[in-house]
Amino acid sequence: MATRFYNTMTRRKEIFQPIESGKVRMYTCGPTVYNFAHIGNFRAYVFEDLLRRYLKFKGYEVIQVMNITDVDDKIIREANKAGQTIREFTRKYRDAFFEDIDTLGIERAEVYPAATDHISEMVGLISKIMDKGLAYRTDDGSIYFKVSEYPKYGRLAHLNVTDMKRGTRVQNDEYEKEELRDFALWKGWKAEDGPVCWETAIGKGRPGWHIECSAMSTKYLGNHFDIHTGGVDNIFPHHENEIAQSEAATGEKFVNYWLHCEHLMVEGDKMSKSAGNFYRLRELLDKGIDASAIRYVLLSTHYRQKLNFTFDKLEAAAKSITRLRDFKKSLDQPVNDGALQIDQIVEKYLRDFEEFLDDDLNISGALGSLFRCIHEINAFRESTPLTDRDVGVVSNFLDKVDSVLNVMNVSERTLSSEEQQLIEKRQKARAERNWAEADRIRDELLKRGIILEDTPSGTSWKRKIKT
Ligand code: AMP
Ligand code: ZN
Repeated sequence: MATRFYNTMTRRKEIFQPIESGKVRMYTCGPTVYNFAHIGNFRAYVFEDLLRRYLKFKGYEVIQVMNITDVDDKIIREANKAGQTIREFTRKYRDAFFEDIDTLGIERAEVYPAATDHISEMVGLISKIMDKGLAYRTDDGSIYFKVSEYPKYGRLAHLNVTDMKRGTRVQNDEYEKEELRDFALWKGWKAEDGPVCWETAIGKGRPGWHIECSAMSTKYLGNHFDIHTGGVDNIFPHHENEIAQSEAATGEKFVNYWLHCEHLMVEGDKMSKSAGNFYRLRELLDKGIDASAIRYVLLSTHYRQKLNFTFDKLEAAAKSITRLRDFKKSLDQPVNDGALQIDQIVEKYLRDFEEFLDDDLNISGALGSLFRCIHEINAFRESTPLTDRDVGVVSNFLDKVDSVLNVMNVSERTLSSEEQQLIEKRQKARAERNWAEADRIRDELLKRGIILEDTPSGTSWKRKIKT
């Protein structure tokens, strides 16, 4: 079955066809590292992780590039205030970002280029645009893209550009530009930038925000590549400007498929740093909430729908994950004779799982089919115990599905040696029929979030998923 994605450019679901057979090149707008990311940001990154993992599930080789924005107005202001270089100032947030994506089980991209390492590429691109007469310099040394020279401007955001105010000469304390809709490719140095500037062939200053994504995407993925993603707030002006700059400089089509994820909301408003209604991942973890429950909440609503973040959702997510993990664990005790029907059940549901995700990553459908599969296998084995071979088939199925979802293994930590010793001590107490001591140890482990289960073949354990 062909995979289809909703393309923001055409406002339609389109059959996905990579430029080079078997290989997908994709660019995802990354974090501005001036603060810790909030879970709204992670909704975008988890959506991109699902996309990446699913493309790999389909057999594609994926080359993903995610930029790190480590120079912009806020960073310069904060770094100067702190008396640090921008590199010193951003290091902490950059490290935290990588720690957070690992915690959420987000697979690493192939390249994480930082803006400040690519100034010469940006200067090269801006020079090309200037040579073509599509940009102009203002008195303060800034360089602006001349939108009126780029007739396709507004196609991604479906804007009527003639409605955008034209002919207005805008002047403020910082910059002047010929038209309101023109945007900065380069910002001339000004006193409050302090030491933050680059001496380059196009002057002394620093890049505008949009140009970094054009420079770094084309450097690592080529002038024309397959997929570009981000949150819907990136559509305009950021992605619109990226298209204009890139296509103006290279003369080639920039991107084939534009995928944008809707916002994470809190009580009807977009979660954002500026609105102050945000949760950081680490705050939630400090409350004892399990990372896999957070991942599940971010993953399980279709990416083009707004997702309202609530603690009830975290609780429901934790229950779903417990069901999945319990089911996986229940496969540990097969018997040696049984039936082969299990193959048919698994094949049917794997097909469903794939068909749903092929349809623009229909995650609710895919999760629904997974839980129906578990239900059917459980019903089946009530009358027909699973064989070793059946267990292999089901385990393979779960591994395949979890290569996309990555919720069955995330944060499934092993026991510490102290916890291990407690379990052994309890086994001994049970063997000596010292039930009071056995119960005491069970309660102690429960307090540490470890649930014990006594079965005829021994005692197994699992971690409680906290919400
Ligand atoms: P920023 O660090 O603000 O540049 O944002 C990084 C990524 O997070 C971008 O792709 C944004 O579109 C995305 N983003 C920001 N806020 C939200 C939100 N509330 N819900 C989903 N994505 C978001
Ligand atoms: Zn970008």
